[in-house]
Amino acid sequence: MSDYRLLIGGERIATREHFPVLNPASGEPAGMAPAATEEHVDRAVAAARAAFASWRATSDETRRAACQGLADRIAAHAEELARLLTLEQGKPLNGLGSRFELKGAEAWARYTAGLEIPVETVQNDAKGRVEIHRRAVGVVASITPWNWPLMIAVWHVVPAIRTGNTVVIKPSPLTPLSTLRMTEIMADRLPPGVLNVVSGRDEIAPRLTAHPDVAKVVFTGSTETGLKVMSAGAGTLKRLTLELGGNDAGIVLPDVDPVAAAARLFWGAFINNGQTCAALKRLYVADAVYDRICEALVRYASNVVVGDGLDEVSQLGPVQNRTQFDKVAGMVEEARAAGARMILGGNPDRKRAGYFYPVTLIAEARAGMRVVDEEQFGPVLPIIRYREVDDAMQQANGLKYGLGGSVWSQDLQRAWELAARLECGTAWVNRHGDIRPDVPFGGVKCSGLGVEFGRQGLEEYTTIQVLHR
Ligand code: NAD
Repeated sequence: MSDYRLLIGGERIATREHFPVLNPASGEPAGMAPAATEEHVDRAVAAARAAFASWRATSDETRRAACQGLADRIAAHAEELARLLTLEQGKPLNGLGSRFELKGAEAWARYTAGLEIPVETVQNDAKGRVEIHRRAVGVVASITPWNWPLMIAVWHVVPAIRTGNTVVIKPSPLTPLSTLRMTEIMADRLPPGVLNVVSGRDEIAPRLTAHPDVAKVVFTGSTETGLKVMSAGAGTLKRLTLELGGNDAGIVLPDVDPVAAAARLFWGAFINNGQTCAALKRLYVADAVYDRICEALVRYASNVVVGDGLDEVSQLGPVQNRTQFDKVAGMVEEARAAGARMILGGNPDRKRAGYFYPVTLIAEARAGMRVVDEEQFGPVLPIIRYREVDDAMQQANGLKYGLGGSVWSQDLQRAWELAARLECGTAWVNRHGDIRPDVPFGGVKCSGLGVEFGRQGLEEYTTIQVLHR
């Protein structure tokens, strides 16, 4: 029925039930994934729990070497994984697509492998000794979304393992195949039970997030589901890292050179077809430069090649799934009906197979339109005209989200000061969405709890123990 298996306690486990995973470029099955039951979830948690006792006791050197090994395995299988990722996720092989994602996964794994959390000595003298240690928390449940499945899996799994925890990962049912394959490839670098994988429908997730033997949940997905994860963990006071939805605003000041800024603005918004948590999702543009920014974006976007991700020339692929396609199409229609102007795209070819939605630029968008107020998560950018920058700032900060934001200007000092006023976890100047393994990343307000990456991100997989005499 399927070549894919769960991974529990070092063993590849076949399931009775399977479910189809669709290729978004055709709408046809790309493969069958094993459908884990709640019993499989329990077995995976038990295997992780059993492995924790010895894994936490391994030396720092052992765990660093193991994580370097994971990076090596990803690198050795990068092309195979990139193709599988494109097949189920839809993103192109090239550009900011699957090969880019695999390079990122390797880079994050390698950098995180080398990170350390030294013991802090607060006092060490004749009167006493006080040390702050960081201890692994136990079994970590990782739940990942469908937009950057492999990179996000690495963001969860490697820091957890590096710090001595064991993991049960549950990938999105829309893109489980590449995670099943990647973890299978990784498994021989780890003792049995340190990394376990259960793929299945959404319904099995609450079993994991409420499981009494899970000490921490790291979740990347929508705010709506993140809130459910939070309440599921409340009964046993689980540690949480939540990376949730965003509706990032960019503010363009009147002195911006539209042609020079067009490429960065475009890819800030359209990376992975806009299906990126920290993509630019609302662009506020000063009246004085509004028309020229719109023109420059249309010119740039018109040359971007949209097609099957497996075609080497494609720069953008289809939207990942039918639900997302319908949501985006609905929001665009509502904006049109409310008086917004489609300056590019906005009319999908519904006879075409797969979930292809054209690159869409919406002029004269404004607050009150869902495409502005909500996270659209598709290849669509609403462009909002403003007269006073304070007004743009107020609108940018006016929503429940607070993941990223950006300010665009030739006056770097002014842009820096304005960026500091954005209510978000990362505020960029003249760029949007740049993330790095050595810099913490996370959301404020309803965009998340805690951070990933860097020393601060690693610490989230630990709790403090003080030794005091
Ligand atoms: P989603 O919330 O629908 O699903 C995410 C995961 O949660 C899937 O694995 C799903 O099976 C699982 N899930 C479903 N019901 C659950 C439940 N009751 N309890 C626990 N888990 C459950 O999100 P999605 O549509 O896959 O991903 C898109 C969203 O993810 C967007 O909102 C995007 O902004 C967000 N995202 C955020 C970041 C970030 O770093 N902040 C990164 C990537 C994506």
